[in-house]
Amino acid sequence: MERLVIIGNGIAGITTALEVRARDPRVRITVISSESKYHYSRPALMYIFMGHLKFRDTMPYPPTFWEKKKIELVHGYVEEIDSSDQKVRLASGTAFSYDKLVLATGSKSNTFGWPGEDLTGVLGLYNLQDLEKLEQLVPNASSAVIVGGGLIGIELGEMLHSRGIHVTFLIRECSYWNSVLPDEESQMINHVIRAENMEIVPSSLLAEILPDSTGRVRAIVTEDGREISCQIVGLTPGVHPNKTLAQAASIPTHKGILVNQYLETRIPNIYACGDCAEIQNEVEGSSRVESIWYTGKFQGETLARNLTGERVTYDPGIFYNSAKFLDLEYQVYGTVQKQNPDDTHYYWCSKNGLHSLRLVERGGALIGVNLMGIRYRHRTCEEWIKQKLSVKEVLPLLGEANFDPEFSKRFEPEIVAAFAEELR
Ligand SMILES: Cc1cc2nc3c(=O)[nH]c(=O)nc-3n(C[C@H](O)[C@H](O)[C@H](O)COP(=O)(O)OP(=O)(O)OC[C@H]3O[C@@H](n4cnc5c(N)ncnc54)[C@H](O)[C@@H]3O)c2cc1C
Repeated sequence: MERLVIIGNGIAGITTALEVRARDPRVRITVISSESKYHYSRPALMYIFMGHLKFRDTMPYPPTFWEKKKIELVHGYVEEIDSSDQKVRLASGTAFSYDKLVLATGSKSNTFGWPGEDLTGVLGLYNLQDLEKLEQLVPNASSAVIVGGGLIGIELGEMLHSRGIHVTFLIRECSYWNSVLPDEESQMINHVIRAENMEIVPSSLLAEILPDSTGRVRAIVTEDGREISCQIVGLTPGVHPNKTLAQAASIPTHKGILVNQYLETRIPNIYACGDCAEIQNEVEGSSRVESIWYTGKFQGETLARNLTGERVTYDPGIFYNSAKFLDLEYQVYGTVQKQNPDDTHYYWCSKNGLHSLRLVERGGALIGVNLMGIRYRHRTCEEWIKQKLSVKEVLPLLGEANFDPEFSKRFEPEIVAAFAEELR
């Protein structure tokens, strides 16, 4: 391979570029991205808005780094892929030839064609351009409605709340993120949201967004006819793979850009990784889209190995995710399903209702760990699951996973006693 072109400079595209460079000092690498010239950490977007970080603090590598690595960065929008000529063309007209092309085009915010979703004041939260829009809206806003209660919704809520804007969450479920979290953890989130004087309107669907006489948002209406006045509407009902470019180039797609376990599309010399990819497992007959930061990094690493002569399949390992619900930290390892009759759940919650631990066992082996308000060591939890330890075997080891010795001293005897009682 003489020339590698990567579209998208998020974690997946940039990891691919850096890992290829680490293995091959000679290949010409070009990364093209329309959002910003330099890679930044997308999960840190909220901290820029809240004034905790400057944009430059969210860039893991300084601008001079790329020259040293001999990675060419192009700030531009790719409009067309010509797979027969092996060329990509930018909106500016510039064209780049490739030997290998990587699509790492990320996600787009979901919308559902709601009446009024194009009004001034309606936005998602995905990129730097959304942040700019938000900055323009905030000075003229006193209240906001956030539609869709997930991980991005809570971040947008916290951002607006930090600027003194009254926030109402409109959620389809009866409790926050209850489609994913077990009831107890979900209720803990309701509690922390309401404790900050933000509102949750549960079991409610958006019907339409109403304009004022200037075409700006003035209110939303729910399907059961409730009108809530607001000047900002945050649409955060999830994201979907950005496959626009692939579709235009007739690269096969379904939910995302279809790739096999080597991250190859069905078009020769074109690959995809990160949020935009839908990875098919031909043996199992399954496929999945992974829209989280660390799997984007793993996929970039795997793809770089395949681009430089190895032949390895993508293995995401044991599922892990972490997030924050206001000040409440959340971590999950492995499989924590709400209702699976094969699973036994062991759940402990502190008396103040702000710390909890859930261990999930299936067939005598630990398969999942859910933590709220406590942080455990990634490696340790992974090992417990990999080694198929039982909950009984894990109990004496809990202290090894905890970062905070004070927490261990205070709560571990209580946790162990509670779980031991359940195990009897
Ligand atoms: C607000 C927010 C908070 C998040 N927090 C977390 C978190 O705490 N933990 C976690 O695991 N995940 C989090 N995520 C998800 C995580 O950020 C994404 O999974 C990850 O960034 C996706 O990386 P990616 O490289 O696949 O794509 P992206 O980071 O989306 O990068 C794709 C890039 O490609 C560019 N692009 C697309 N099409 C073109 C084109 N035609 N021409 C040129 N450029 C193009 C886009 O402009 C974009 O910059 C968060 C996401 C958001 C939006």
